[in-house]
Amino acid sequence: MTEYAKNLIDEVKAKNPAEPEFHQAVSEVVESLDLVLEQYPEYQHSKILERIVEPERVIMFRIPWTDDQGIVQVNRGFRIEMNSAIGPYKGGLRFHPSVNLGILKFLAFEQVFKNSLTTLPMGGGKGGSDFDPKGKSDNEVMRFCQSFMSELYRHIGPNTDVPAGDIGVGAREIGYLFGQYKRIRNEFTGILTGKSLNWGGSLIRPEATGYGAVYFAAEMLNTRNETLEGKTCLVSGSGNVSQFTTEKVLHFGGKVVTLSDSSGYIYDEEGVNEEKLAYIMDLKNVRRGRIKEYTEKYPNAVYTQIDPSLDYNPLWSHKADCAFPSATQNEINAKDAQNLIDNNVYVVSEGANMPTTQDGVKIFLDKGILYGPGKAANAGGVAVSGLEMSQNSERLPWTREEVDNRLQLIMKSIHTTCVETAEKFGTPGNYVNGSNIGGFLKVADSMLDQGVV
Ligand code: NDP
Repeated sequence: MTEYAKNLIDEVKAKNPAEPEFHQAVSEVVESLDLVLEQYPEYQHSKILERIVEPERVIMFRIPWTDDQGIVQVNRGFRIEMNSAIGPYKGGLRFHPSVNLGILKFLAFEQVFKNSLTTLPMGGGKGGSDFDPKGKSDNEVMRFCQSFMSELYRHIGPNTDVPAGDIGVGAREIGYLFGQYKRIRNEFTGILTGKSLNWGGSLIRPEATGYGAVYFAAEMLNTRNETLEGKTCLVSGSGNVSQFTTEKVLHFGGKVVTLSDSSGYIYDEEGVNEEKLAYIMDLKNVRRGRIKEYTEKYPNAVYTQIDPSLDYNPLWSHKADCAFPSATQNEINAKDAQNLIDNNVYVVSEGANMPTTQDGVKIFLDKGILYGPGKAANAGGVAVSGLEMSQNSERLPWTREEVDNRLQLIMKSIHTTCVETAEKFGTPGNYVNGSNIGGFLKVADSMLDQGVV
């Protein structure tokens, strides 16, 4: 690494203490960009990197609400408006007790490059709260969402910042948030994506991230003249991304043998078929139950509870061909990465954001497996959010086929950008460099065009 890149990373760490995930995301991108800076000194001269690691704006606010017992609760809300060089800020809202400033800054930073890769005009942002929707009644979730939007509404707008869902924010939460915005502003406009179909949502938006991650895996396999047909796949998580990853793997003739939640995972050697997937969707989206219940319904499957004393996750130690980490950040460490390789996995397509630690990524790259990092592989979700914005502007909904075709074309184009960029910068087959550099160049050139702002 050059002295300049090293100093930049050190400065980010010193200026943003106690934000390890943000440091990790910045380090990975800056390492890739080292390959670019020599060829394009203008980026260094105009301090593009120094600017790109600094959010344009960070909004942090109090969210008071009353629970069903009449007790006042207080959570913290955030919106990180990271970069608007190529379009309005765009990125999800996460409601999870682990949410803090550093995690949202890492997610907003990743989002900048991801959105650029989609080819659509979207800047990068992310937001959320340390509120935990688990175990809350619908009324509590509604009151929380209304309080959250009572502050957020003044910072967003269809041409300013358009949030969407992420962990803990699905159709229910988007509905309550949208309702409160409309009430305060007296305006029906596309300020959120992931809306329900009846009031401005797009077909295929719920499916988009999971489908996209599978389309990306199929593109990677295609470089070796292979398909997903007959492949055994490990999937983590059991939320939005995991469910539609599983559905698309099934469409392509593959077999999914694992799913998880934050309490443990199930291993179903026979595979999760369409009937079992329908059960999971009902369990998770309607009854809001735990993945453990799967083994009560399908006793041939085995449930393993999380053991916090282990320094690896046994989910990644089953024989398989492909892995789709689709739960959360840093869920694959170096040991897990090695276990995946030792169990024959040679395709990793990341539905989650930064699910692999830097040591884990290094193992994948050293082994030369087909490794699709999140900012490329899971960009299908935000891409269809971009298409939802287009439909809202046009006030015309598109058909399922049209949106799905566009999603497939976008994932193909992201894959091509990664492959061509990696090759151009001397690291063929390295999708990490391909996606980081490919995403960066468009944003950096736009920042140069727009002057020192
Ligand atoms: P959901 O809330 O629908 O599902 C999240 C799943 O991951 C749940 O099964 C959850 O289990 C599990 N999970 C969450 N946190 C942890 C944790 N700390 N440890 C173990 N398991 C955990 O979220 P999504 O499916 O929408 O998001 C999953 C990932 O995909 C995230 O990294 C997100 O940033 C990324 N992503 C999502 C997009 C989207 O369109 N939704 C777009 C691009 C990326 P439990 O229920 O027990 O918490």
